[in-house]
Formats: sequence, C-alpha cells, structure tokens
Amino acid sequence: MADIVLEQLVKEYPGGVRAVDGLDVTIEDGEFFALLGPSGCGKTTLLRSIAGLETVSGGSIRIGGRDVTRLAPGARDIAMVFQDYALFPHMTVRDNIAYPLKIKKVGKQERAEKAEETAEGLSLGGLLERRPGQLSGGQQQRAALARAVACHPQVFLFDEPLSNLDARLRLEARTFLKRLQRDLGVTTVFVTHDQAEALAMSDRMAVMEAGRIRQIGTPREVFQRPASTFVAGFIGSTPMNLLDATIDRDTVRVAGTSVPLPESARAHVRDGEEVVYAARPEYMTFSTEAADAGIEGTVAIIENMGVGSLVSLEVGATIVQVTVPEGQEPPIGSRGWAVAAPQRVLVYRRDDGELVGSERAPALAEA
Ligand code: ATP
Repeated sequence: MADIVLEQLVKEYPGGVRAVDGLDVTIEDGEFFALLGPSGCGKTTLLRSIAGLETVSGGSIRIGGRDVTRLAPGARDIAMVFQDYALFPHMTVRDNIAYPLKIKKVGKQERAEKAEETAEGLSLGGLLERRPGQLSGGQQQRAALARAVACHPQVFLFDEPLSNLDARLRLEARTFLKRLQRDLGVTTVFVTHDQAEALAMSDRMAVMEAGRIRQIGTPREVFQRPASTFVAGFIGSTPMNLLDATIDRDTVRVAGTSVPLPESARAHVRDGEEVVYAARPEYMTFSTEAADAGIEGTVAIIENMGVGSLVSLEVGATIVQVTVPEGQEPPIGSRGWAVAAPQRVLVYRRDDGELVGSERAPALAEA
C-alpha cells in the first residue's frame, strides 16, 4: 500500500516565491497521476518535495501511511527520473541499470536478467555494454528510466522523462511505461507540460497554476469539463473556442447568434450577465447551409491535421474553429456555419473564469 497524501503542503523559496502554495492531494495506491501545468507553476518543486530533495516550508507528506516529511530521500523507497538523468559515467548501461538492485543486495544472476529485460523494453538491448558518454541524449534518458524501473520501488517520480526523445521513441516509451506501471502497480507521479502526454498516460491528473491545483480529475473529466477558462485553454490539441457572450434569458448571444443556454448553466446565471461561451472544435460541426444555432462566418484558414482539418471561421473580429472530416474542407473565403453539440457547450463566468454550474452538473463521462 503506497498512497501519497499531501496535506497543506507549502514550499516557499528564499525571496518569497511560493512554488507550492498549500496543496491537499491524495494520490491513490497504484495510481498513475500526472502533474500538468505551464512553466514555473511549481510541478518540479512539488515532485522534488515528495522525493525529499526540497525541505518543505509547511504541511506534511505521507507515503503508504508513513510520515516522510522530514525523512532523507534514500529512506522514502522511491525511484526518480529527472530531465537531467544522473547516470554514473564510469559504468556501462548494464551496470547503471543494475546498480540500485546491487544496493538492494539482489543476486548477480537476477540483476543481470532484470537489467536485460528492462533494457529490452526501452529499446536499449544493443547498448548494454556502452558507457553513458557513448549514448545520445535520448538513449541516456531511456537508460535512466530503465534504472528507475528495474529496482521496483514503492513510488516512481518522473519529471518529464520523455522530453528528450524523438516523436516515435516518445510514443514507444509512453506505451512501455504505461504498461509497465500497470503491471507493477507502482504509484506514479509524472510531471509534464505536455497535455497530450498527461491525457494519454494518467489515471488522474492535476492541472497546476502558480503553486496551486486548479483541477483534479480523470483525463476525460478534465478534457470534457475544464473547471476554468485557464484549464480549458491548456487542455486539448486544438484550442477550445472561448468566446465572449451575453446571457439573453434562456439563450446565449455569441458572435451575432442566439444559441440555447446549456441546461447545466440555467439556474446559475442572470439575464444580461457577461459570460464566456466555450466549445471544442472537435465538438462542433461545419455546415455550408444556414443552421439553427449556428455561428456564421467566412472560412479564413484551413489547417491539415492528418485525419481531417481545422477550419477557422472569421466572424467580425472573432475566430471560431471547427474540425471537419478529411475531404470535406470548404473553400477559403466561402460562408459557413459552426454548430456546437448542445450537451458539449460550457459557460464560464467572465469575471473569474470559473465554470458555471460545475457544482451540480455531472461530468459527461458519468452522465
Ligand atoms: P518547468 O516546467 O519550467 O520546469 P515548473 O512548473 O516545474 O516549471 P518549478 O521549477 O517548480 O516550476 O518552479 C516554480 C517556481 O519556483 C518558479 O517561479 C521558479 O522560478 C521558482 N523557483 C524554483 N526553484 C527555485 C529556487 N531554487 N529558488 C527560488 N525560486 C525557485
């Protein structure tokens, strides 16, 4: 049992920067938990605090029921992989991977087998006799991953461990890590600034901003119902449409059109209130004919996304983006209508950016 319980955790650096600003989080035993957020939001500091590499300024950290707040890193039974993967330069890849097992007094034969098996999974099989200096950056990073994985700790802490890999290896390593984590059931905290990586890999994720957590949920919850415009703008490979709008009784006036006010927001807004209307491009359809509750505009830009394209409609000074299936791209300069699936529309408060009706509306995933 190795859940991680953070209570009122604070890390303040000299000079007054509160990199971690009073966090309460429970990461469940065996969970793959991603910490996501823009540069400087405190992800690395939080991870280093769990590892014991930072002395926290307040609050507590428990791992598997044991208070480790004041324990040295070596006493916490964790394995870390950081962006700068400190491999031992004088040892071969094989010995680097096997080193933590040697410390744990695992027998020579078993050490060798584990090192080989893990190296194979990370496409390092042919490089076992090399030293770190003879590896590329990506290979070094994989060797560091293999070293952490082979020793089977209670908790894995990963800080952007895939950032140096090229696109193909990154996908391979992602699948390998996810499968391995599931097989071993090791509680894992994974820092990334890549929302696609967090969505793809985690059981649950936390989105951080300025030392605080803005939302915690499953990838589906966070993707479908971002708790604020900040989270909405951060999650998704195409940016969510966030359009200034005004409540007009039971409709929303947005980009010159009246669209139905989502059911979940109805009881929480007043007539005339200024809000933000939000819909993902993937949850909108494009029509070349006038459509009910459609936002009309001129096709300004088409971006190829592989399968399908992203169409930018110009509505005065506003841009509305909508995805279209492959082969159905409209001509540039033509008129078109973007229509959102009503159950996918969200409304945010203009003043604080918070989701309207979030307290009552169930996540779509549970509906
Ligand atoms: P990145 O994605 O760029 O690595 P991050 O989200 O991991 O960013 P942190 O490295 O945790 O962010 O930094 C959080 C805040 O703490 C930043 O404002 C940073 O400037 C500050 N900070 C980090 N380390 C120190 C330090 N040793 N002394 C003072 N301030 C620090």
